[in-house]
Amino acid sequence: MAASGVGRSRNVPSRPDAMTDPLLADALAAGRGALTESEGKALLARCGIDVPRSRVVAAAEEAATAAAGLDGPFVAKVVSREILHKSDAGGVAVGLADGAAVAEAIREMARRPAIADAGVEGYLVEEMAPAGLEVVVGAIRDPQFGPMVMVGLGGIFVEVLGDVSFRLCPVHPGEAAAMLDDLEGAALLDGARGSVTVSRGAIVDVLLKIGGEGGLMLREDAIAEIDVNPMIVTAGGAVAVDARVILRPATYAAAAPGSAADRPRDDLPALERFRPLFHPRTVAVIGASATKPTIGNTFIRRMQAFGYPGAIYPIHPKAAHVEGLPAYPSLGETPAPVDYAYVAIGAERVPALLAAAAGNVAFTQVISSGFREEGNAGLEDRLAAAAHAGGTRLVGPNCLGTYSPRECSLTFPIDAPTEPGRIGIVTQSGGLGTDIIKRGQWKGLGLSALVTAGNCADVGPADLVEYYLADDGTEAIGLYLEDIGDGRQFFDLLRGAARPKPVVVLRGGRSDAGRAAAKSHTGALAGDARAWRALAAQVPVALVDTVDEFLDTLVALQYLTLRPERPTASVALFGNGGGTGVLATDFFAERGLAVHRFDGAAKDALLALGLPPGTSVANPIDTPVITLQTDEGRIANEILDIIYRHARPDAVVMHLNLAAFVGRAGVDPVDNLIGAAVAIGRAYPGQAHFALALRVDGSPELDDAKRRYGGLARDAGIPVFDELPEVARALAVVGHLERALARGNRRGVRSSSR
Ligand code: ADP
Ligand code: MG
Repeated sequence: MAASGVGRSRNVPSRPDAMTDPLLADALAAGRGALTESEGKALLARCGIDVPRSRVVAAAEEAATAAAGLDGPFVAKVVSREILHKSDAGGVAVGLADGAAVAEAIREMARRPAIADAGVEGYLVEEMAPAGLEVVVGAIRDPQFGPMVMVGLGGIFVEVLGDVSFRLCPVHPGEAAAMLDDLEGAALLDGARGSVTVSRGAIVDVLLKIGGEGGLMLREDAIAEIDVNPMIVTAGGAVAVDARVILRPATYAAAAPGSAADRPRDDLPALERFRPLFHPRTVAVIGASATKPTIGNTFIRRMQAFGYPGAIYPIHPKAAHVEGLPAYPSLGETPAPVDYAYVAIGAERVPALLAAAAGNVAFTQVISSGFREEGNAGLEDRLAAAAHAGGTRLVGPNCLGTYSPRECSLTFPIDAPTEPGRIGIVTQSGGLGTDIIKRGQWKGLGLSALVTAGNCADVGPADLVEYYLADDGTEAIGLYLEDIGDGRQFFDLLRGAARPKPVVVLRGGRSDAGRAAAKSHTGALAGDARAWRALAAQVPVALVDTVDEFLDTLVALQYLTLRPERPTASVALFGNGGGTGVLATDFFAERGLAVHRFDGAAKDALLALGLPPGTSVANPIDTPVITLQTDEGRIANEILDIIYRHARPDAVVMHLNLAAFVGRAGVDPVDNLIGAAVAIGRAYPGQAHFALALRVDGSPELDDAKRRYGGLARDAGIPVFDELPEVARALAVVGHLERALARGNRRGVRSSSR
């Protein structure tokens, strides 16, 4: 379990040139925590956001004069730092016809207990905005992802239903428009249920002025949170009728000392910087014993069995030899500099050891536990400082190791495959790392590398993602995260990537701790889950919920070539099991994948095949065993050819219930069915994603058959899954990532060149 990474999160990309509006500067200098409503509105107005014209008066007597300079009808509101929700306190009166009505409303307000007892600074007299739809626009700074902007529909939609949409700043215009589509109540913007049709453009414009490129949140480091609740939108525009701007104490405006932003940045390109971790030429082992087997000894044996070609230096205070290798007394005294040191000794002893590395060690992975995850944050801080002093980058602590099969560079689990694949993994749980390697192996998943990153006291997930993005051997990235640490660095990397790659994220410990302190409505609605959802809507990231989904999705990404120019949306299902196909149709549809019934040429051609009775040639194509056995299964070539030639779906899924063939009398057509799948892919290259579900009943004989047939299919480049819902989930993620990559391409970011 990784613990929270104190000191690693970056609040905001600190900009030395950040401007400070005099309004904000004055409020900060006065030690105030928020702007008044009229100051907030003045700030918004300076960004070009429409606000009602208004005056602030000290008492009812001034109301008439104030109203005289404005156009009615009017609204009167109490101005008080002690009153957060003015209407709850009886401090808002709307629809006031003239100055006299305003004066009367103010007098009445002043008598209300909640107002009479509060320190009142005055009353705001403003023009009443024309009726329209009330929406809420807000912004916050997430502790990990930095500035974010929000929109929701006003009233119960936000307050009761939490129907809001967030994005990370800066939002692009297309993203701001998509925020509105996210809302469950989006139809209300377009006049549903008798509401007026309102200007989506006006809302998007405000979102951009607050959270877009060069918007308020990026320009003004001093702003912590903004709530525009409500903004009244009509067909002609949007008016911010309430504004709450929460400030950050001046000290926050600069990056916190000791944060990642202050760490001296290595200017080496990521590939070179991380070469010693992923391809070490020399490995030191601390914790291997000359007398009894320890984790360190096991590591040495596994490295040797793996075929590691480089030098291994056991470090031992006394022994001359460990595991038959010459041993050295300290990390600073090895025959050649150390690329990678594996450390598995008592937690207390690790800091001194690292401090003694004396610049001789590029990367140290600390397997030992007993640090922050056990409440010993102080020891972990000392560990990080010692690594820094010893001139070594630190991976871990509290992890299991790194697996890098290219050139048999590095390993840690027993019998890990030496055959490299194209998926790069970072996991903050070591045990899950072993699962991913071993279970992934049986699902056909091949890895370019896997790092168990543990508590991430120094090297964090985003650093490793930077390596995988640069690494030509990695096509897609999988992350198991308990704490992203510097989420902003992660977002910036993915958004700015010269060659974007799909990322699949499985999050553990999804809690909103640390975000409870928000002072605004927007802040209360924000949180970890919403930040991640926003990120997944903006960059090629897919969120999954289980380890199986994680592995299945990565399998799909490994075998299928993403097609941003035609994102996956339509699917043809073909196989035996009528109910299975019907259930799957619903499941696919719920994930945005349509299983359209065939018509026209596709239907005619399928009917013309004259398949045996019981066959349904609409989509899903339900072929009973007898049909699949036709011509020993070669009938599948003709069926698939018709699908590819006439129906042209984005993806084709073949599902075979092996129980219907294996060990039964008659022909076993499965070899030929898989052969048909391979042939159709070759005949129509790049036209449709092809996936295979091999269904079994759990008997050992079918499990064996499944392994055999699955191997055949995988060897031919076809991803294999257990059941159709798994295929649906994986293809839905493929579609999501294709759309994300397409958006990136449209913005001019160079696309994946594979
Ligand atoms: P609160 O502090 O209670 O949020 P608001 O300033 O948001 O107070 O006012 C409460 C409600 O009054 C708003 O939700 C809106 O419906 C209405 N309102 C406030 N100001 C105006 C205005 N200038 N024009 C039209 N309606 C307004
Ligand atoms: Mg309000």
